[in-house]
Amino acid sequence: MADCVVSIAEFRAGNFRRVSFEVASEARKVADALNLPLYGIAVGCGVGEKAVELGYYGVDKVFVADDAALENYVPELYVPVVASLIEQWQPAAVFLPASVDGKDLSARLAARLQTGLAQDCIQVVCDGGVIKAKRPIFAGKCLAWCEWADGALPMISCRPNVMDCQAADATRQAQVEKVPVDLPEARSQALGVELDTTGKVELTEAEIIVSGGRGMKAAENFAILEQLAKELGAAVGASRAAVDAGWRPHSDQVGQTGKVVNPNLYIAVGISGAIQHLAGMGSSKYIVAVNKDPEAPIFTKADYGIVEDLFKFIPAFTEEVRKMKS
Ligand code: FAD
Repeated sequence: MADCVVSIAEFRAGNFRRVSFEVASEARKVADALNLPLYGIAVGCGVGEKAVELGYYGVDKVFVADDAALENYVPELYVPVVASLIEQWQPAAVFLPASVDGKDLSARLAARLQTGLAQDCIQVVCDGGVIKAKRPIFAGKCLAWCEWADGALPMISCRPNVMDCQAADATRQAQVEKVPVDLPEARSQALGVELDTTGKVELTEAEIIVSGGRGMKAAENFAILEQLAKELGAAVGASRAAVDAGWRPHSDQVGQTGKVVNPNLYIAVGISGAIQHLAGMGSSKYIVAVNKDPEAPIFTKADYGIVEDLFKFIPAFTEEVRKMKS
């Protein structure tokens, strides 16, 4: 008999990542459908002070593993800490973020707990008590519904920016329990984290993304996308062709071998729309494509298409945005 639903949060640089709240909101819906309490797990350094925030998004009780050694994600430390908590319960499901660290943690946890993982899910339903999770497969060409065999623990990682995040309700108080942290001796350690101090909006959390491809022709031409992005409060992404050419860092790459993004608005500039690129941005709410080739495949995916030379269109469009704002 299940006794809870579990939601694992991600805590970095003193704050929960937004996807933690999306995951908690989704897990709350399942907990409600099953009439079970929602337990949260928060691991990190200084996470205890922030743990109540998970309650605002529906977590009933937060179990906190707070230790200086847990400041950064180290699989050898995180996995036993999280697994030992879950092993004490009989969860109906475990939810966690499909972030870079979350994908790693979820795969290791699923192996350790000997259960099946549905990675990078975009929808979860609880149908007559049966949990089903939807996830894109084959680079987003198909969508698969996953179900678990009787007795198997559904482990579900949620793609950031897709699941509805409920509005924070600060009156909702979670019970917070600090758990003793008994860390194994780790063979690896995180020596430090280099944070991006440029103030750039993180791609996976951006509401608007302006991405450039091979059509940008040179690294310095991305300046026109940076200007547009600044006006729109957007992040700048890139296709693999632009990254391979050395015009942008790999951290900007959107697609199958880059980041999966889900902004409200994705503006693809000088990008043809190869399947591997679509795999990373195809579920954006609105897609605008700027391409001089009317036959470019990106137009089959775009909500709005502009057939024009990008070097004419982007500066003119940026100017219009600027005027609208003033
Ligand atoms: P192109 O396909 O060369 O398109 C450039 C576009 O710019 C053209 O449509 C052209 O009409 C347009 N253009 C040119 N000049 C102008 C102008 N002046 N004004 C307007 N439009 C103009 N790709 C990714 O993006 N992300 C991935 O993660 C990724 N992973 C991959 C993984 C594998 C295993 C493989 C095999 C490939 C992967 N690719 C990935 C590569 C992918 O197949 C494409 O090669 C790549 O996306 C093409 O990038 P692009 O659209 O910028 O370039």
